Amino acid sequence: MGKRIRIWQDHWLPRKHSPYVSSYPLVELESSTVDVLIDPRRRQWNLEMIDGLFNTEEAELIKTIPLSREAKEDVLFWPHSNDGKYSCKTGYSFLKMEEELNDEPQGTTNDHTQVWKAVWSMHAPPKVKTLVWRACCEAMPTKSALFRCTISTDPYCVRCHASSKNALHALWSCPKLDSVWSDLQLWSVQGAVQFVDFKELLSWLIRNNHHLELFAVMVWQIWNQRNRVRLNQPADSLHQIAHISKVWLADYHARQVILDIPVQQNQHPRKHWKPPPSEFFKINFDGAVFPHEKKIWDWRCH
Ligand SMILES: [Zn+2]
Repeated sequence: MGKRIRIWQDHWLPRKHSPYVSSYPLVELESSTVDVLIDPRRRQWNLEMIDGLFNTEEAELIKTIPLSREAKEDVLFWPHSNDGKYSCKTGYSFLKMEEELNDEPQGTTNDHTQVWKAVWSMHAPPKVKTLVWRACCEAMPTKSALFRCTISTDPYCVRCHASSKNALHALWSCPKLDSVWSDLQLWSVQGAVQFVDFKELLSWLIRNNHHLELFAVMVWQIWNQRNRVRLNQPADSLHQIAHISKVWLADYHARQVILDIPVQQNQHPRKHWKPPPSEFFKINFDGAVFPHEKKIWDWRCH
């Protein structure tokens, strides 16, 4: 049970957006499967471990997944129907719902959705986007988060030893980071505006169209530097981070431009599936035609 499902790579949480685990993985368990979270004798979730590894929302969600009393093979389950089986009808309503979410006008989307869209549409490496999004959801192993989960013995910031509250402190407002955010032309907001949490800061930067990508890369560099110091690995000093981030981002963008050129020349623009207007039916077929054999193989209705 759970032996074939990877905790941080597979879709297994019982929610539609998103079925991935977003809590930051512990390095030692990064490629573990779900069975490590189950007490094999009692066939119950290991509650202590789940509370220690996942943020509150995800931990509660996992605990609601019923476990079989007997050893059983894992099976794939389609989450958009009651019986777990895929059908054209539930596939259609899933695609329609996705389309409606994408078409929602800016004014009606909530703040959370706007931040989510802005983060994932940044021109930055996936690891940078993932970290920023996790910081936004307070799903990072900051000292205070680990203390809450009883993995660390104290809740103090590793840099300034103050009582650290959240990702906002670890990545933005810790006084030890002043040298990182010292460029007043770019980051005067640091001294001028007080934010409650990391998400509020991010929303402000998005609303004001304020160097979001550079901010994200600097945040990633700060977090990476902190982890390297903690593991006694060679690390850049904090006052170099602003400069390194600018060079790193410019280099990344330059490489993307080079990578994009052949793609644009060779590929047709990708067509997205759209639901038909109301009172119309759309039937999509797929198949292979072999003119010499005068045969058509494998007609499928999607
Ligand atoms: Zn601090």
